[in-house]
Formats: sequence, C-alpha cells, structure tokens
Amino acid sequence: PVYVPDPSRYDNMKFRRCGKSGLDLPAISLGLWHNFGHSDDLKVGREILRTAFDLGITHFDLANNYGPPYGAAEENFGRILKKDFLAYRDELLISSKAGWDMWPGPYGNFGSKKYLVASLDQSLKRMGLDYVDVFYHHRPDPDTPLEETMGALDLIVRQGKALYVGISQYSAADTIKAAKILKELGTPCLIHQPRYNMMDRWVEKDLLNVLDESGIGAIAFSPLEQGVLTNKYLNGFPEDSRAVKDGRYLKSSNITSAVLSQVKKLNDLAEERGQSLAQMAIAWLLKSPTITSVLVGVSKASQLQDNVNSLKNLSFTEDELLKIETILKS
Ligand code: NDP
Repeated sequence: PVYVPDPSRYDNMKFRRCGKSGLDLPAISLGLWHNFGHSDDLKVGREILRTAFDLGITHFDLANNYGPPYGAAEENFGRILKKDFLAYRDELLISSKAGWDMWPGPYGNFGSKKYLVASLDQSLKRMGLDYVDVFYHHRPDPDTPLEETMGALDLIVRQGKALYVGISQYSAADTIKAAKILKELGTPCLIHQPRYNMMDRWVEKDLLNVLDESGIGAIAFSPLEQGVLTNKYLNGFPEDSRAVKDGRYLKSSNITSAVLSQVKKLNDLAEERGQSLAQMAIAWLLKSPTITSVLVGVSKASQLQDNVNSLKNLSFTEDELLKIETILKS
C-alpha cells in the first residue's frame, strides 16, 4: 500500500536548534547502524522508518559501513526511500559518514581526502541521493593532517554533495582544532556525534563545554547503551535482543550481574517517574541544552513509540538526579 504520512506528524515532536546554525533537529533521531542489513527483515525496517516519520522524526543517520555487509544499510535505506519517502525528501535530514574501514587497500579507511570524497560518492549512489544533509568524519585519524580531512569536508560541501558537515568521536582538544580549521575554510562544523549515555560519561569532562562555546550541536549515539538501559535484560537474555542475536558490539558477557543490579534500580526509579527506563535514559540526556538530539536505534517500531513518549516528561527533580548518580556509583 502507498505510504501516506500521518498529517499530525509534527504535533508532538520537539525540535531543537543545532548549535549556532539555522537547522533544527528532532529531539529524537533514528540511526540505522543495526537492523537494516541484508539479513534483516526489510519489512520491519520499512515499518520502523514509516513509524519514525509519522512520529515527527525527520533525521535518519547512516554511515558507509552500516550493514552487514558494509553498505547494506544505505542500500536498503535507499530502496525504502524510493518507495515511501522521495516526495518528502525536503522534510528529511539524512546523514552519512566515512572514517572507519570500508574497502580494501590504503584508500578505504581513516581520513584522507581520497577516501572521504570517494566514499561519499558511493554512499550517494547506494542511497539514490544527490546530496546528504550532513556528512561526518566518523572518527579522528592521528596520521592524517586535520587540514586535509577538514579540507575534504569543505570540498564536499562546495561540490554540493553535503549541506553541512560534522565530526564523530573527536576528543575535546581535536574538536577545537577541527572547528577552527573548518571556520577558516568557511564551512562551519555543524555537529559533533559522540557516544553518551548515563553509563558512558566521557563527554562531560570537556567536550560538552567546548561544543557550547563553539556553537556546535551535539547528537548522542548509543543513548540506551545498545539496549542495556532498558528493562529487556532484567529477566534473562531474550532471543531477539542485540546481545543474543548479534553480539558483535554488545556482548552478553559484558551485561554482568553488577550492571543488571544498577539497571534494576534505575528501572525502579523510572517506574516511580511513570516512565520506562528507556524513556528516562533519553530524558536524562535531553535535560542538557547542549544535546541537540538523542540518536536511538530500534529493532521494532514499537520501541520507537516508547522512546518518543519520553518527551512527555523531560524534567528531573534534584533528588531524582542524585538518586541516579548514587545508583551509577553503586
Ligand atoms: P541505542 O543505545 O539506542 O541502542 C539501540 C538498541 O536498544 C535497539 O536496537 C534495541 O535493542 C534497544 N532498544 C531501543 N529502544 C528500546 C526500547 N524502547 N525498549 C527496549 N529496547 C530498546 O543506540 P545504538 O547503539 O543502536 O546507536 C544508535 C545510532 O547511533 C546508530 O544507529 C548509529 O546511527 C549511531 N552510532 C554512531 C556511532 C559513531 O561512531 N558515530 C557508533 C554507534 C552508533 P534490541 O535489538 O535488543 O531490541
């Protein structure tokens, strides 16, 4: 059946300005790192994307090597885009990235201009797009001059292949350097994509301040610690969970009884707030004005609905925040 988006899709989503730019991001964005590979059920993927758009999620995040195999997520996204979303391209914010291993040989990894330019060309072909809205350097490359990598991002924008650029996984110090170079080139850094959740707090030391001061937006990836910050592992390891069915990046051996004891306490606190733990974990990130958007992944459309309902309660009492810190230190 032809997809007709929900006419009320913008009624409940909250939009937040991305740093000092003209661009608003939905408070919750959708990432396609998992669940859009060639072995995944594309019907589910299509349902997830339709549900996202119906909920006001305008931002879909990809990378060259999301799959498996590498490239598959972009290919599958392109297929669904062609069927359902082409008429809505201007309502969508699509991002891709290069920086991790993609193809064999010296030109398919890290941060050279050679790699970034070729990789984005491939990504655009796979997705059937003329341009992406945001193109990221996916991780810092200590062996390539930052001037070359940032120069490649600037070039890509001037070629019309991306509207904005961003960086991911860069330290605070490297972010300052990258932002300076990009500013001088006339292509400001729109956004930083760091890993950030209740259990992974590295950004709090310096990075968030740097982003604030430089007018760069922030989109937090793995906000649910890949699913650990939900109630799903509290009564065993479900067959259809990432830890069991995938295990590449989330290993069940890392979800120890000590971790689960914290999760149980966090889950109780979330219930007291009238939220699911996933909702509380998302709301907890959005309490910081520096966080423009929270970038979730989902394996089913119902999880997305659950996550978006976090927007109904984004405030925390001092006491709740203290309790969360105490639990995380326990
Ligand atoms: P999350 O921390 O949101 O984990 C997603 C997983 O959590 C889902 O696959 C699902 O697991 C589970 N989940 C989500 N919502 C719920 C819910 N309401 N109830 C129960 N379980 C839920 O994020 P990801 O680790 O997937 O990362 C999100 C995105 O961030 C990626 O798609 C990618 O776009 C980006 N990213 C960027 C990186 C970078 O280097 N820049 C690195 C990693 C990610 P299950 O499958 O078990 O159901």
